[in-house]
Amino acid sequence: HSIGELDADLIECRACPRLVAWREQVAREKRAAFADQTYWGRPVPGFGPDDARVLILGLAPAAHGANRTSRMFTGDQSGDVLFRALHDVGLANQPVATSADDGMELFGVRMTAPVHCAPPQNKPTVAERDRCAHWLDAELHLLLPTLRSVVVLGAFGWQAGLRSFADLGWAVDRPRPRFTHGARTVIRLDDRELAVFGSYHVSQHNTFTGRLTPQMLRDVLGAAADHAGL
Ligand code: SF4
Repeated sequence: HSIGELDADLIECRACPRLVAWREQVAREKRAAFADQTYWGRPVPGFGPDDARVLILGLAPAAHGANRTSRMFTGDQSGDVLFRALHDVGLANQPVATSADDGMELFGVRMTAPVHCAPPQNKPTVAERDRCAHWLDAELHLLLPTLRSVVVLGAFGWQAGLRSFADLGWAVDRPRPRFTHGARTVIRLDDRELAVFGSYHVSQHNTFTGRLTPQMLRDVLGAAADHAGL
């Protein structure tokens, strides 16, 4: 399997009835502001090179963001904050992402999510996370030859990510390290080490209230890039 083949399989997935119904309902009904656009309305694959050294792990596609544009974090305010920060620290060629064909390029970074379909209220269930985990496991497996750092946005991704690594045989500290902004843990497999960094999620709830500032996000992304030799 290549990442391209994995992505091609992923976008056909219909394993979660509630999410299939929701992603397609949102695409049919659309938001007035996007009434003239064709919504993707399908699982959203990871975005970025298949030899990435840094993986950014979020939560799930947003109904009118990635579920509309087909690209992770693209087309909503959470993504605006993330892409701008990536550009600020030299990991993206442009600061603004608007659509899947906007020319955005990430340098050594791939972004993905533990749940690939947009959930109602941005809240996937535990069963949906578990059903989607094999996609994340497969993506992580394909990235492992080059991967050095993982940046996890939010507690949901932190738990899902550490679980997937444990499934793949990585040694994760016990008790599991707790999620917090600035959390950092190292996981090991044979002679390999990966640094896992925690950041508050780039949701509007965090960025509008100042709980997550652009500088806080840049600091985490910069630390992950440094660790990865980018
Ligand atoms: Fe498939 Fe994951 Fe979407 Fe569920 S959330 S339908 S497992 S891609």
